[in-house]
This record gives sequence, C-alpha cells and structure tokens, in this order.
Amino acid sequence: MSIATNFVTKVKSAQARRAVQEMPEYHPPLAGRDALRLDFNENTFAPSPRVMEKLLAQTAERLTKYPEREPVERIVAAHFGLRPEEVLLTNGVDEAIHLMCVTFLEDKDEALIATPSFFMYDVSIKMMTPHLVKVQSDATLGFPFERFMAAITERTKLIMVASPNNPTGATVSRQHLLAIAAAAPQAVVMVDEAYYHFDGESVMGDLAAVPNLIVARTFSKAYGLANLRIGMLAGSAELLKYVRKVSSPYNVNGVALDCLPAAIEDETYLAWYVEQVRVGRERMMGGLAELGVPYFPSHANFVLMNIGSKHKELVQAMRTHGVLLRDRSTDPGCDGFVRITIGVEEHVTRGLAALKVCLDEIGWKSQREEPAHDPIEDGAREFE
Ligand code: PMP
Repeated sequence: MSIATNFVTKVKSAQARRAVQEMPEYHPPLAGRDALRLDFNENTFAPSPRVMEKLLAQTAERLTKYPEREPVERIVAAHFGLRPEEVLLTNGVDEAIHLMCVTFLEDKDEALIATPSFFMYDVSIKMMTPHLVKVQSDATLGFPFERFMAAITERTKLIMVASPNNPTGATVSRQHLLAIAAAAPQAVVMVDEAYYHFDGESVMGDLAAVPNLIVARTFSKAYGLANLRIGMLAGSAELLKYVRKVSSPYNVNGVALDCLPAAIEDETYLAWYVEQVRVGRERMMGGLAELGVPYFPSHANFVLMNIGSKHKELVQAMRTHGVLLRDRSTDPGCDGFVRITIGVEEHVTRGLAALKVCLDEIGWKSQREEPAHDPIEDGAREFE
C-alpha cells in the first residue's frame, strides 16, 4: 500500500476549520424576490442617471481587463477630503467587515459588538476568534452605551458599531463613539455608516484626530449601487496599510469602479433620493401610529415594527399582495418584529396601503394602549 493511500484511508473526508464549522450562518433570501422589495434596505428606485450612462458605455474590451482601483480611490479620497492612502475601496461593506476581522483579530482577542445589529459582524468575527462579546440593547433598542463601555477589556482588539444601526434604526451619538474609541486605544473601532445619508451625523471628520477609528461607508443604499458591490473603508494610512495587504488587488469590479465617480459627483440626485426617504419615513411612521402598530423611531431607510405573534402571517400576507418585508424575529430582543424599507414616494404609498389591507386580513389587533413590547431584563446580556 502506498503512503498516499494510507493517508487517504486514515483521513475520512475533508473538513472545514473548526471555527468555520461553528460559525453562525447568515441566510438572507437569495431567490424569489420578484415583488416590491421592501425587505433589504436597498434604494427602491435607481442610481443616478449618470451611473446608467457609464454602465451603457461599457465595452467588451473593457470587460477583459483586470480592474484598476487606485485612480478611483484618489477620486473618492478627494471627495471626502482624505488622502488616497486613507481610503480602501471594498466589495461592499460586507467585504470591509471581513477584511477588518482578518486584519486585526487573533484567536485569543475579543471583539465587541452591540446586539441586535448587522449579522455579518457575527459571521466574520467568529471566523477569527471565539471571543465575540455582545452587549444586548434593552427594550428601547437604543445603543447600550454604559454597558458597552463596561464590556471593553484589555483583550478587546476590534469594536464594530453601526450608526444608524440595522435593524433598529437607532443612532449612536458622535460623542459616545469617540468615548468608545478613547476607552479602547488598543482596539480598532470601526463605525459602520452604511445608513449615514438618512441621518447625517458622521465621525468621518474625526479620523485625523482619532488614530484607532475607521469608518465604513457603502454605496449600496442611498446611491443605489447594491448590485455593483462597492463600499469603502476610511481611516489612518497606518491602519489601512494592513487592511490593504489582506485585500485582493481586484476586490472591486471595473464596472463598479467606472460608475462610482459618476455616482458621487451627482449630489443633486443623492439629495433627491435622501429627501424621498426622509419624507417617506415620516409618512410610514405616521401611518404605523395611525394603525396602532408600535415601531422604533428610525434614522435609516427602514422602520422596525412590532407585530407580535402574527409576524410570520403578516410577512406572508404582504408577499401575496406583492410586497416583501423582512421578518427580524430571530434577532436578539426582536421577537415579533418586522422591518420595512423606505424608498421613493410611490413605494411608501404601496407599502402602507398593503400593510393596512394585510393587518386587517390577518386579524391583527391594534396594541395602541399596550407597551411597545415586553421589556427584556435591563441587565447586561453579555455572552461568550
Ligand atoms: N452594514 C450594515 C449595517 C448593513 O445593514 C449592510 C447591508 N444590509 C451592510 C453593512 C452591507 O452593505 P454592502 O451592501 O455594502 O455590503
């Protein structure tokens, strides 16, 4: 028997790393979304017409070439008043999160997040370290600042905070974010500003003064480029130098790179879309209040509402009426909660109209007189 055969008979099958086997799975629907998609917090309408021009100008020859990230990083950096080495373009913020974890986490390190929040933090952190510390919001779903500060230890090496947060729509004040960064100089603090445009407060202006701060921005939401997969990290050249080392040189495709300058230069379009969302969000929150549906005041392009035990029925009924919502019930502290994306006026109108019909159809009773939801214990729910 050869050595090779010996080896094959002993090792029965190929295995993933233990950390990967134990990693949580993120399963957003990847098919069957043929309806009005108010489930993924996308731009519901279109990107700037200037982007479409760039897209239509693509040539066959261009598709044969590997993409060149650097010239576009220079344009993006200038747009944000940064130096090119302070910007890294990424394949969406999803990749940015992954790169941050691979760059900054050893398996003995702790990473700190608040929950409920964007699930990809969980997935990417667990790939690198089992020491994920989560600080659960209380029943208000606001950011649990005091308990979060108390959870920082010497071993904390990466902190990720979304502001505005998904799925709650809550923000973390600039003052609190800077306090977190100051309390953890041994850690990198990534502030995920995916929904920045719908709120307006940013820590981008603090990057020069705070060496351990990194800001993530996406072009998937307000700019309407989710399908092109493009996002960015902004931060000190010193830190980004390492993230760049980990990133593939061709992580962002050339079509996205061609379109991005057109998207960021069309500020009129961006302002129009953001205003549509801001007005639509007020209308949605007003409509929910009228229907007696408890909701969480949102600073993003979605609203999280509390449907209670009929959450699945509502999502199903809405699908039948051609509108997709996202059931967030399995998120920690979100039992019975459903999220609706806010888009352009017509889509908010359709979403609200369908909600009225469907709540009626499922026999949902207004909870106007009751609290938003059963308060979970206000004590720290840190685990692991
Ligand atoms: N961060 C947050 C808070 C998000 O909600 C999302 C998308 N749902 C992302 C990042 C990912 O964005 P991208 O499309 O740039 O990967």
